[in-house]
Amino acid sequence: MNPYHTLPSVDSLLQDERLRPLPPSLVREAVRGELDAAREAIAAGAHPPARELLLERILGRIASAQRPSLHRVVNATGVILHTNLGRAPIDREIFDGAKAVATGYCNLEYDLATGKRGDRYAHAAAALRELLGCEDTLIVNNNAAAVFLILNTFARGKEAIVSRGELVEIGGNFRIPEVMASSGAKMVEVGTTNKTRLTDYEAAIGEETAMVMKVHKSNYTIEGFSAEVGMEEITGLARERGLVDYYDLGSAYLPDLPWGLGKGEPSLSRILRDPPSLLSFSGDKLFGGVQAGIILGRKPLIDRLKRNQLLRMFRVDKFTLALLERTVLAYRRGEIDKIPALRKLFATPERLRERAETLRKRLPIPAEIVASETYVGGGTMPNRKIPTVVLALEGDARTLEEAFRRSGVIGRIEKERFVLDLRTVEEGDFGQVVEAAKNIVRSEE
Ligand SMILES: *Cc1c(COP(=O)(O)O)cnc(C)c1O
Repeated sequence: MNPYHTLPSVDSLLQDERLRPLPPSLVREAVRGELDAAREAIAAGAHPPARELLLERILGRIASAQRPSLHRVVNATGVILHTNLGRAPIDREIFDGAKAVATGYCNLEYDLATGKRGDRYAHAAAALRELLGCEDTLIVNNNAAAVFLILNTFARGKEAIVSRGELVEIGGNFRIPEVMASSGAKMVEVGTTNKTRLTDYEAAIGEETAMVMKVHKSNYTIEGFSAEVGMEEITGLARERGLVDYYDLGSAYLPDLPWGLGKGEPSLSRILRDPPSLLSFSGDKLFGGVQAGIILGRKPLIDRLKRNQLLRMFRVDKFTLALLERTVLAYRRGEIDKIPALRKLFATPERLRERAETLRKRLPIPAEIVASETYVGGGTMPNRKIPTVVLALEGDARTLEEAFRRSGVIGRIEKERFVLDLRTVEEGDFGQVVEAAKNIVRSEE
């Protein structure tokens, strides 16, 4: 018999009970798609699928067409601030608080005391000022926008001095020289790749100089014969000469960091003991909040930033401000466990080992608990290893890596084994990991 004739017709499939309640256009598309696929398979020599199998595939196709493409995954790579996986996760309670703000109306630009127009930037700003003891703050979309806005406001058509050792590329096309050029600032490079001294900055100051800038090297380090000038010295020099000093810090952290990470990487509180006139950092690197560019600085300078027309293009929405303010308030209460990135970073190996035991018992695939090392990530703290504990799964590493990845669990391959890193997998992720493992085992049977 002609194998094509054993395929059910479109009409007969459309009559199926399970398909009838679903959106007709989606159903028709899925039915046609699966029938086409079946015909192609037959042409390639396969048997025609049974009606039931065909229906299952159609239902699967409809389900995946209705799923948003951006969805939750489990980060089992161990890299805490994984840029490709959305950097810092947001705490559930903080999110719930912000949810109420975003799903209704809110006092974003409305002063409830006077009934007059309010300042959108005032919300998170007050909490930040109190947390950090800085004069004033401004929040923009991300730190890249902060860098651009600051350069554009203070150094457009003028000169900004920066060390050659700090002309970094942060990734995703963010390169300091290019950003400076597009902001309208004239870059004046000083020093060499490995050494820059205060006298280099001094010698470069001229009539056209508006700013002395320091950029945190973030994702790379210079070892060996090297020297850079500390921000305090740059600030001192700029003050003396009546220039703006600006520190693009990239990533900022507050509590003292474990695993020796603080070595050579001062905390924000430490940097602010001798505050630069302007400083900016990302809201979702080690600060552990939402994507934002957080600018701290002297009030007259922040006021000038607020008067730049470009601010409108970089402005944050109510949801970001609501999340950020709640994160800052959690810091003020000392609730580090409300900062998921820090909670993951601080977890002890003993704690991770317990976690690994619990997960191993639930996994349908045999696994060994192994001590290992990982990184903070997100273009911060390069070459700084932190201890971790992984579950190394039995089976072909590459096959497992792909199968888990396709179910939204991203692990890594270490010494030819597929591993799940417990530094970034928390109890709340176990359900999804176990579900993925069960499906993988089932599909192998
Ligand atoms: C990460 C980083 C940026 C860019 O920050 P985003 O928040 O990703 O826009 C800029 N400068 C430095 C030094 C950085 O480390």
